[in-house]
Amino acid sequence: MPRVLLVEDEPAIADTLVYALETECFEVTHALTGADAVAAAEREIFDFAILDIGLPDMTGLDVCRRLREKSAIPVLFLTARDGEMDRILGLELGGDDYVTKPFSPREIVARVRAILRRSQAPLQAATPAIDSKILHHDSAAMRIHCHGAPLDLTAHEYKLLLVLLEKPGRVFTRDQLLDHAWQDPGAVTDRTIDAHVKSIRAKLRAVRAGAEDLIQTRRGLGYLLGI
Ligand code: CA
Repeated sequence: MPRVLLVEDEPAIADTLVYALETECFEVTHALTGADAVAAAEREIFDFAILDIGLPDMTGLDVCRRLREKSAIPVLFLTARDGEMDRILGLELGGDDYVTKPFSPREIVARVRAILRRSQAPLQAATPAIDSKILHHDSAAMRIHCHGAPLDLTAHEYKLLLVLLEKPGRVFTRDQLLDHAWQDPGAVTDRTIDAHVKSIRAKLRAVRAGAEDLIQTRRGLGYLLGI
């Protein structure tokens, strides 16, 4: 049973969501405030988080930041406004998706299922082949280590590096990377991939000078992991 952390301060919305998720065999922990949600995440391990943006004590984005300090848990944001600001902030924080209120509980369940499928499928398929002395994937913690040091990656950076790590030496085009690491590739451009690769390289370099060269550029084609 996937365990879902739901943070929503409006009881009526929360009740509908809890009911819909439990009917579909999710185990749900519901928190009314951001502080309760953070406390729950410290006690238990969750597979998924649904975060309302507008909470009484902090924003859903703050909650996401706190959760991401510990794990790359998939996140779905609930937002009352179809505002570009919420969207940008959510995606920058590594939120996996967002839904604008009002929404149907069915839609939420379907999104959660889709995001979980995407976040789990490549891990299972890849587990045997992706360890190396230089880069190591800890699938349980959803973290990638470089020379033994955990990399502090956003969710998209993590997924992108994982795609490369699954098939070292294989060139991935930017479109392929978008398809694998973003659930809504239409919303981003080739430059998004380049920006994320740049950021991952910086994080690799911070661990050890030269490690950034692990991600190689094939001009006009795409990227590959050279290990
Ligand atoms: Ca709210």
